Amino acid sequence: MKYPIITPMLRSQALLILAALLIGRAGLHAQTPAAPEPRPKIKETVINGVEGFQDTPMQPDGLWHVHDPARPQPPIVKTGEFSEKAPAPSDAVVLFDGHDLSQWQDKKTGGPVPWNVRDGVAISAKDDIQTTQSFGDLQLHLEFREPVLHGRYGQDRGNSGVFLMGRYEIQVLDCYHNPTYADGATGAIYGQHPPLVNACRPPGEWQTYDILFNVPHFDDSGHLLTPAYVTVLQNGVVVQNHQAIRGDTNWRVPGSYTPVGSTGPIALQYHNNSVAFRNIWVRPMAVDQEP
Ligand code: MG
Repeated sequence: MKYPIITPMLRSQALLILAALLIGRAGLHAQTPAAPEPRPKIKETVINGVEGFQDTPMQPDGLWHVHDPARPQPPIVKTGEFSEKAPAPSDAVVLFDGHDLSQWQDKKTGGPVPWNVRDGVAISAKDDIQTTQSFGDLQLHLEFREPVLHGRYGQDRGNSGVFLMGRYEIQVLDCYHNPTYADGATGAIYGQHPPLVNACRPPGEWQTYDILFNVPHFDDSGHLLTPAYVTVLQNGVVVQNHQAIRGDTNWRVPGSYTPVGSTGPIALQYHNNSVAFRNIWVRPMAVDQEP
């Protein structure tokens, strides 16, 4: 290989380029970072010992604010016997059988899950996780165990969640003797529909979710044709009955739809609480297209 001959002219040009680069860098360093925007003051309201909000938008029913502490608490039901730790049906996709979380990935990074697996149980930590596979209409079974937490109330007690298509949250929370705003209680479609009843078992005990979910449908220009629907049984008790979901579930805002495809991952939330999960399986569900 022949080396280029460095003439004085080339050298001066190189020096000029180097100088320009250095000035550019100095310019960049001289920029002071923009001051962070002051966060808007968020005002919690407490009604009858329930923390929530009344400075949020109204729900479409016009009766309650999103996360309204005045919205009636779901009536408490003592659960009966139900099948837990039951083997998955033969056609189910097993998402966690107690051994590893190889069917899951970190929701934010797409990398390995930061959750811990111990004694056949997955413990939430650090980030949300989601399945590597995507699913459409489905039947989902999972079991969760709330931690025993002292001095933690409302949304701070055992918060997690099951996100269908990675975006529609069925709340996981410890609502055993722990009132919170009804649209954020255990089994709520978060921020939209409270559970029909409070079927919570005490923290430290295993509980089941059995969920039937139908994906939403959009036309080619992204307009909603049919909403997503969800039926949820908690500990064998119906807490959502073929309830229409109003769109993406988020904090302090009513649901609204983002057009999505016909499948999505199942995600589990990490919300600064160590919630245990086990026996997670899903059955993709066919839909009879006949009217
Ligand atoms: Mg949650």
